[in-house]
Amino acid sequence: MLVNLFLVFSIAWPYLTQISELLTPDLLWNILYLFLFLFAYTFLLINHLKECSDLAPEPLVWNIIDSQQTRGKMISASMIFSCPMKSYLELNNDYYLTLEDLYWGSFRGSLRHLALARYGEIHKNLMIEKRFKAKVGGIDISGQIDAYDPINKILWDWKTAKFIIPKNLPYGEHVSQTAIYRLLLESNGLPVSAVNIIYLDSSGWASVELTEKDGFIKYYEKGERKTASLDAHMQSVEKTCREIEPRIKVLHNAFHKDITPPSEPSFLCDLNNRERKSYCPVRHICPYWNEELREKILVDREKQMALY
Ligand code: SF4
Repeated sequence: MLVNLFLVFSIAWPYLTQISELLTPDLLWNILYLFLFLFAYTFLLINHLKECSDLAPEPLVWNIIDSQQTRGKMISASMIFSCPMKSYLELNNDYYLTLEDLYWGSFRGSLRHLALARYGEIHKNLMIEKRFKAKVGGIDISGQIDAYDPINKILWDWKTAKFIIPKNLPYGEHVSQTAIYRLLLESNGLPVSAVNIIYLDSSGWASVELTEKDGFIKYYEKGERKTASLDAHMQSVEKTCREIEPRIKVLHNAFHKDITPPSEPSFLCDLNNRERKSYCPVRHICPYWNEELREKILVDREKQMALY
């Protein structure tokens, strides 16, 4: 691969210089940076695979590294209801998750992706894993839906969990997240009349179905199929916009004006969860848990409040 990159670069260079009159110096530098980036990425990936192959099977490590992505300053659906400080710190700092923590989350995400992609190959009428953009309060947000059935106007969302407890479903954050997906679809002219959230764990599944009027859950228990009605339903797009607009502004100000957003500690970082561990990769630089940084937050928060 490295040799190929060098060959491509050395073959392309004379042509690039010949047409340099047409190319601006900035464009030439950008092309050079792109080659250097590809070179460095390939080099690091190969070395990471070698380093980690003692710890985990190489295809597994490759898959985990390959599935990592960053969206820069674009506000994604998954950020909107999570801790804004976490998104802000992740954008502005290098951070890492351990292989152990990445394993199940990333790997099962890839399995789900493969299953959906394969299903989409056969069911051409469905929109599978498509990214949509919309503006809320003048600010761009984006999100990738799992699947959308345009004929029946159903949005599908798949969630994997360690354990499913049907009486606890659906989780509030999943209802909120699918409400944002509905907003994204409807902003792009694709109406949604029902949301179907499929929960999977290693021993079974449950299906939550929500419309604007009602909601119910179907699941298997001890070999028996059960259905129960839920105290949950699909949220209107107008209500979703009202709820998310202030949070989107906070993220936008954090990303583009460097105004420190609030911290929203939860079971993910308070060490009171079952495993007694933090699932936030930037906890060590989070002002909420760091006395010295709190004063700075208060000053920045005053600036932020002055904007509203
Ligand atoms: S440690 Fe908690 S409060 Fe701090 S950024 Fe992470 S999730 Fe937010």
